[in-house]
Amino acid sequence: MNRDDHTFRLGQVLVVCAPSGTGKSTLISMLRDEYPDFGFSVSYTTRAPRGSEQDGREYNFVTRDQFVAMRSRGDFCEWAEVHGNFYGTATRPVEEMLHAGRDVLFDIDVQGAKQLKKTFYKGTYVFLLPPSREELVRRLEGRGTDSAESIAKRLANASGELAQAEWFDYWVVNDDLDEAYRELKSVYLAGRCKPALRPGILGNIMDTWKNNG
Ligand code: ADP
Ligand code: 5GP
Repeated sequence: MNRDDHTFRLGQVLVVCAPSGTGKSTLISMLRDEYPDFGFSVSYTTRAPRGSEQDGREYNFVTRDQFVAMRSRGDFCEWAEVHGNFYGTATRPVEEMLHAGRDVLFDIDVQGAKQLKKTFYKGTYVFLLPPSREELVRRLEGRGTDSAESIAKRLANASGELAQAEWFDYWVVNDDLDEAYRELKSVYLAGRCKPALRPGILGNIMDTWKNNG
């Protein structure tokens, strides 16, 4: 595929944020199952691996010193401290995937998304909303992975995160899962049609008129 081809497109940056427990991992894995070609930005983190997580798959696990060295070199297009650990996205692999025409999905927190918007402002920024506080508590408790203390911390963080929802391009309320997935998928597909991702295509199509008036 090259720039003279009408099917040419640059990859889309798709950023999905949500308060913990909303269903972000569930919806992202549905999207990745349906679109296996999605490039996924594997973040760097200083937190320890959980359960079956593998280095280089869910995250690149690094020490605090390694993280700080990468940050000082300017390797990250965004980074944040979340729940006491550092998380960051390396710029280079993302740029490579985008230029190869692959869409890249970011599962990052709200602070990181805000920084990323400065670099990849033409991306698609989606905020997932829980239907209510009560339902968020039910999901966090039902998931069974967090202590009461950790749930209380996530709920307290959630109100600050919701206050940031305003600057996102799209909101999807995750009430009924199938409906929320339909909406997220529609946003993703619409984002692929943005003119900014199709440089040159209009000129190429108009050129086909040249010899025929
Ligand atoms: P997050 O990644 O946002 O922290 P998860 O995807 O782990 O959240 O979802 C939290 C819990 O809520 C999980 O047990 C998941 O199965 C459940 N869940 C996700 N979406 C829904 C929904 N629409 N209705 C009911 N439960 C849901
Ligand atoms: P967890 O430790 O539960 O996998 O992730 C905790 C939070 O950190 C989630 O909200 C997740 O989206 C966010 N996160 C993961 N990777 C990154 C990253 O590279 N940058 C930022 N800013 N947040 C991240």
